[in-house]
Amino acid sequence: MVETGTIPARSGAAFDVRAGHSVRIINTHGAQVVDFFAFNAAEPLEHLSMPHTHAALNRVVPQPGDTLTSSKRRAMLTITEDTTPGVHDTLIAACDPWRYQELGVQGWHASCAENLEKALKEKGISIGFTPSPFNLFMNIPVEDGSLSFEEPLTSPGEYIEMRAEMDLVVVCSACPQDILKINKQNPTEAHYEVR
Ligand SMILES: [Zn+2]
Repeated sequence: MVETGTIPARSGAAFDVRAGHSVRIINTHGAQVVDFFAFNAAEPLEHLSMPHTHAALNRVVPQPGDTLTSSKRRAMLTITEDTTPGVHDTLIAACDPWRYQELGVQGWHASCAENLEKALKEKGISIGFTPSPFNLFMNIPVEDGSLSFEEPLTSPGEYIEMRAEMDLVVVCSACPQDILKINKQNPTEAHYEVR
């Protein structure tokens, strides 16, 4: 059985993925960054950690076959399939109210940090901080130690699929960034499937 859900534009979604099941994140419209977070369902303070994953893999961008690790250095998810060009980001913090202030926004602007907090709250979870996300489809090329924020290289319908290695609460945020070009300045919805 496949459970399908929408990650609404500029918003987030939280859902369970049991150990051994797979989660597919679909870039429905082709140019949407999805900030991906995962938490140990039994102990949500243990979270998917990009710095720990870097050390486990000796790689910056994980690829099919790679296992992503938690803040306690345990296996959380294994990438089983990636139909995109394989460009994802693991370096950049989730956008947050301060990021939009810094970019000159006056007043409230949706952010991945707030989307995470709201989505976890619906699950009765509060962790009090924002882990560094696995930024799916986000194109942050690094050259000679410098990086830049570029448009995604994905096409509509491309996806990445990961198998849960423990019972997880997953949160996905359709990044509302509309000032930089990472979503082609047009944030859209994305979709997920759990099977
Ligand atoms: Zn964001």
